[in-house]
Amino acid sequence: MEKIEDIITDDTFSFTNIEMPVSMPLFQNSLFCFNCVDDLKKAIGDEFYSHLYSRGNNPTVELVERRIAEAEKGERAKLFASGVAAIYAVVSSQVQSGDHIICSDCAYSWAKYLCSTYLKRFNVSATFVNTKDIEAVKQAVRKNTKVLYLESPGSSVMRVSDLKALVEICKNNSIFSIIDNTWATPVFQNPLTFGIDAVVHSASKYLGGHSDVIGGCVISSNKNIEHIFKTEFLPTGAVPDPFQAWLIQRGMRTLKVRLDYHYKAALKVCDFLYAHNAVDEVFYPMHPKSPDYALASSQMKGGCGLLSVKLKTNDETKIKKAVDALNIFRIGVSWGGYESLILPLLATKGDPRVIRLHIGLENTDSLIEDLDKGLFLLK
Ligand SMILES: *Cc1c(COP(=O)(O)O)cnc(C)c1O
Repeated sequence: MEKIEDIITDDTFSFTNIEMPVSMPLFQNSLFCFNCVDDLKKAIGDEFYSHLYSRGNNPTVELVERRIAEAEKGERAKLFASGVAAIYAVVSSQVQSGDHIICSDCAYSWAKYLCSTYLKRFNVSATFVNTKDIEAVKQAVRKNTKVLYLESPGSSVMRVSDLKALVEICKNNSIFSIIDNTWATPVFQNPLTFGIDAVVHSASKYLGGHSDVIGGCVISSNKNIEHIFKTEFLPTGAVPDPFQAWLIQRGMRTLKVRLDYHYKAALKVCDFLYAHNAVDEVFYPMHPKSPDYALASSQMKGGCGLLSVKLKTNDETKIKKAVDALNIFRIGVSWGGYESLILPLLATKGDPRVIRLHIGLENTDSLIEDLDKGLFLLK
């Protein structure tokens, strides 16, 4: 048997003594053993650059982080137990008591909770603005503003913000910019190339891609990730399990082909929805009919399978019946997997006329037929 020390070398993870396995090895270990006390002492002294204990670094997790960093055109990535854990870590890493955050008003609900409620306990205040409105963002800047938190396209109605203009405001005011890039994925949008300081993803969506894993990540400069590792990741322990990381990289192997399919399918479903007389508005920024299309297509190369529609009716009983009538679309939260999902916002605190759809990898014509069955009830 090979000793693990013979298989991995710290820098390259190259496989020198055995045939190359076709898929990534899973290092499901909690700790690492050392040849001598001096080596142990060195590892304890700088955990960011060593293998000591899997709450810090783990080779499987690091390999996945490298793939994510590469996909986002960033220097370094850190994987977390969930998207929310990644958001908490990157935001917290930039603020002290007395600081102020500007947060997009269409950010993911728990990101908004972090800014409005959780961080308030530590005397960090927040202003929520429509970040599509550049003047409103400028107005919201204060002397103590340290973070601009963005999501573009944003949750529910997929509103798009002008990244270049926002980066300029941040640079002029020494504000750290963070964007949730879950919707566009690294395939279609790379915000670091626009000058954004840090990108976060919920890997539970397309990176994992099969609705079988929860995870999150932050991508930024090596310096920022080292800071996050030391001040947030190690102390709070929102660590991904190696197998969880392994599932994420397995999903990422097909990320591009899945996203190309989701994009085509979503456009086709949008065409159907735009033409349907039960529908008032369609929210999909990468469709040429969207008012956001010009800006969206200047920043993104494509779109994912998540879109929303606003119905003409607000009759909740009718809407519930229409949703319940679908067979292929399954009722549930989340998105980014194989399957098509439907989430009527009447089940949340959102606008009852709005329904969110995840267009999955099933036959698109069958999905349209399924939707038509529900929408027919609203005619
Ligand atoms: C799901 C989601 C999150 C949260 O990620 P988890 O992995 O569920 O913690 C964050 N942002 C967006 C846009 C999401 O859709």
